[in-house]
Formats: sequence, structure tokens, C-alpha cells
Amino acid sequence: MTSDINLFPSRTHDHAGCVKSALDAAAACCEKHGARFTALRRRVLELVWTSHEPIGAYALLDTLKAEGQAAAPPTVYRALDFLIEQGLVHRLERLNAFVGCPHPDSRHSAHFLICTECGRAAELRDNPAIDAAIRQAADAFGFTVSRQTIEVEGICPDCRDGLGTAEPKSRPSASGGV
Ligand SMILES: [Zn+2]
Ligand SMILES: [Zn+2]
Ligand SMILES: [Zn+2]
Repeated sequence: MTSDINLFPSRTHDHAGCVKSALDAAAACCEKHGARFTALRRRVLELVWTSHEPIGAYALLDTLKAEGQAAAPPTVYRALDFLIEQGLVHRLERLNAFVGCPHPDSRHSAHFLICTECGRAAELRDNPAIDAAIRQAADAFGFTVSRQTIEVEGICPDCRDGLGTAEPKSRPSASGGV
């Protein structure tokens, strides 16, 4: 039984559209919460959205440096902390990497399906049954859940069907030109 909703976007999907709607949603979200969406925070979010593969802090740092930004690791970590706090980015603990949230408008637990072939991570959403099951199991031991991150590894439909792993990536638009 397969859902009609495509959690893993096709290789030919309009990724520039993904990036644009993520940045628009982020600007709206920051405005709503009275948070400052600085140029650096915006750029870091854009870089996190380079693709649907989680990206590590040092890869972000390298790109920023190549763009001539005086970005020290603490600066990048602070920007990431801000984005996580605002719900715009999720941190995948196991991979120690970051991925953009496609629906930052509502607070939610981070439940991910991670493809071990192509490296893409898809967020499972609208699955209150998972939250409820965990809370119930924890409750039984008098444990109060404050945060839950679930990372499930496996093979995405494209990789299963041998469709390859290439997916569109956004180009670092603000780069000094390569
Ligand atoms: Zn996309
Ligand atoms: Zn999310
Ligand atoms: Zn895959």
C-alpha cells in the first residue's frame, strides 16, 4: 500500500520552487514571531535548501567562505540555531546534518525517512499516531516527552526502482561566480 503523496520529489521536480517557497515561508514566519531574518540567516537557509539531502555545518561554512563571507564556525552555528529555533530547519542527529523544513508554519516533531542510497531525507508529516504512541509508551514509565526526533533509514522509491540518484540542486545564486 503506497501513499499518493510523493515524499521524495522526482528528479525533474522544480527545486527552485521548493527553495523559493521555503524562503518565503521563512520570511513570513520570522515576521510573525518578530525575529530578524538577516542576510546571513537567509543565506544559510538557502544553502540548507541546496537539495533535499541533509547538509553538514562544514559544507555550509565552506560555501560561505568561497562567497567571501567572513563566516566563522560559531557564526554559522548561531545562524543554524536560530533557524532550528524558528522551526525552519531540522537537525538530523545521526547524520549530524541539517535539512530544511517544508512546513515551518506549525510546530511538530521531526520524523524522517532517510534514503541510504541517495542520501535524501523526507519528513513524515501529519502522523499524530507516531507522537501519540511514543507519548503513551513514555507516560507508562512516568517519563515526560519534550522533544522527539525519529530517523528511519531505508530505500526511497526512486532508488528502489533504479531511477538513479541525480536530483536537481539549486545553484548558489549569490556566489562570486565560479
Ligand atoms: Zn525540491
Ligand atoms: Zn518540519
Ligand atoms: Zn534514494
